[in-house]
Amino acid sequence: MALKITDDCIFCAACESACPNNAIYEGGVEWAMADGTSVKGDFVLKDGSIIDASQRNAPLSTGPYYIVPDKCTECQGFHEEPQCVTACPVDSCVPDEMYRESIEELLNKKDKLHL
Ligand code: SF4
Ligand code: SF4
Repeated sequence: MALKITDDCIFCAACESACPNNAIYEGGVEWAMADGTSVKGDFVLKDGSIIDASQRNAPLSTGPYYIVPDKCTECQGFHEEPQCVTACPVDSCVPDEMYRESIEELLNKKDKLHL
């Protein structure tokens, strides 16, 4: 499943650079599928909507750092442990029960992000 960031976040930015999918953004900053991935053109999100990979999308948080669920793969295919969890000094990166995915689904997701 994807991870999420709790309100305990102290804005240290350690997780942002640790993510292999560029799935983590500072609160208030717009996100894009193409950031840190090889995705180009139309991209189908998990909710079925289609966006252009390079379009800038509204921030999912205007407070703490946030994780884009469509870009988080739990670090599958890159690392054995979620790197944001390892990097966070206050244990703010936690599983997001809203986005349950199997290992196979996460690996497929990783392959779609890095062609
Ligand atoms: S678990 Fe990995 S892919 Fe997901 S947000 Fe954290 S560092 Fe990024
Ligand atoms: S590492 Fe933790 S405290 Fe630092 S920005 Fe990320 S979620 Fe917030």
